[in-house]
Amino acid sequence: AVLAAGAIATLAEVAGDVQRAAGAAERLLELLDTQPRIQSPVPPQALPRPSQGDIALENLSFTYPGRETPALVDVDLHIQPGERVAVVGPSGAGKSTLLALLLRFYDPSQGQVTLDGYDIRTLDLEALRRVMGLVAQAPVLFSGTVAENLRYGDAEASNERLRMAAQDASALDFIDALPQGFDTPLGPGGVQLSGGQRQRLAIARALLKDPAVLLLDEATSALDAESERLVQQALDRLMVGRTSIVIAHRLATVIAADRLLVFDGGRLVAAGTHRELITTSGLYRHLVALQFGGETL
Ligand code: ATP
Repeated sequence: AVLAAGAIATLAEVAGDVQRAAGAAERLLELLDTQPRIQSPVPPQALPRPSQGDIALENLSFTYPGRETPALVDVDLHIQPGERVAVVGPSGAGKSTLLALLLRFYDPSQGQVTLDGYDIRTLDLEALRRVMGLVAQAPVLFSGTVAENLRYGDAEASNERLRMAAQDASALDFIDALPQGFDTPLGPGGVQLSGGQRQRLAIARALLKDPAVLLLDEATSALDAESERLVQQALDRLMVGRTSIVIAHRLATVIAADRLLVFDGGRLVAAGTHRELITTSGLYRHLVALQFGGETL
């Protein structure tokens, strides 16, 4: 819900990814009314190109406007360029809030978020959001053709690049099988895609955007085995060469991560690899049993 709320600010960029099912639109409008707008600084600090994808949270706390209890408390964290980080924790732990702060949908109440050493509040907002690619849980696509949906990742992308991105996202075969291929209209009145197909289109869009940092809210809903395999392959290709921060709901993801961050009640309570945390963190063991159905402990 947090990500859906903030995302309206970057509609052209990520709305397709972040808008969730029924009711979301009303909630967004409500939040737009009440949420102080995050603005780009004048003049912004220029971000050296390309971004290293180096991220730090320093002494960061955050309380939502109108709330008493902080959603994040005293978080100190440094994520290395190219690192694969998986975020886990019980419901309400602050996982989505962490992503929302990285996208600067909100500013911290205390402390700072830095990208390549710069406080993100000093950076041009659009430049920041070009660096941060978000693939949300339940990507809803715009009405428009497949190609138009993909070009939200990069408006200038040639047809050839669209095909390459679709290929890397394991989406090319099903797109080519649609009645008009890339020119097939989607959404109301158009073709309805399966959950796994939508996810792969969202991944293709992120590939076209080519962000230094990938923020991924992994789907909780189960896909069939074949679809799952295709999405996983696509994600593996998407993560190569980028810093990735994944809200993890799948065992394969936490096992493959360089580092897991365990959040509880807004605090970063444990960090390490899956193997380390299985022996050192009772909460992590509990989460694994709960969220991943106790597979292969
Ligand atoms: P889940 O796994 O259920 O998605 P989470 O770990 O992502 O949970 P957050 O969504 O970050 O947790 O929520 C952290 C805290 O902030 C919770 O107490 C939640 O109620 C609160 N919160 C989340 N979004 C908002 C919002 N838009 N306005 C006010 N409070 C919020």
